[in-house]
Amino acid sequence: MVPSKAVNASHQCAAALMKTPIGELEIKACRLGLHSITALKTHGVENLPCNPSEKGEVAVERTDQNTENYSEHLENTLSWIRTYFAGKDSVEKPVLCSPVGNTATFGYWVAAQEKVKFGERASYGQLASMCGQENASRAVGNAMRKNPYILLVPCHRIVKSDGSFGNYSAGGPPIKEWLLNFESSFAKCGI
Ligand SMILES: [Zn+2]
Repeated sequence: MVPSKAVNASHQCAAALMKTPIGELEIKACRLGLHSITALKTHGVENLPCNPSEKGEVAVERTDQNTENYSEHLENTLSWIRTYFAGKDSVEKPVLCSPVGNTATFGYWVAAQEKVKFGERASYGQLASMCGQENASRAVGNAMRKNPYILLVPCHRIVKSDGSFGNYSAGGPPIKEWLLNFESSFAKCGI
């Protein structure tokens, strides 16, 4: 077997589909870690739960549990998503597999995850400053737009400097607004 084939084989992913309050998510993980959380279908504004406490069902619809590529990282991510929609950002976060983006981009993803906690928000410029790169707000914006791990890397918490939401790749500003309201409703209760 040629080496490149071996590498590709080790990254073969198992996938799962999950029904959540914002829509249907697809999760992919290999045996080394999580590859992606993406929104396949998001709800329109009219179908988002009005009250975060009535947040609707969170359920696994399908998972490649019995395939040879099945990974504990897939299971860990499904648990993390369930916990997230119960109003908590679990400390035990799924392991991210080798980054899809370049090193700088991956660094911004990790920084967003570590520095902008559940219920908080920061501007693109603030996140750039947190990384010690005051002038990198555009690069941060680009990294957030390419984020393959929605919710887990909380690009929805990164907003424009005037406080407006800015765009959201996983379903547009209404989903971003819903997630921020959802988190602040739990953060206020001190959870
Ligand atoms: Zn992988």
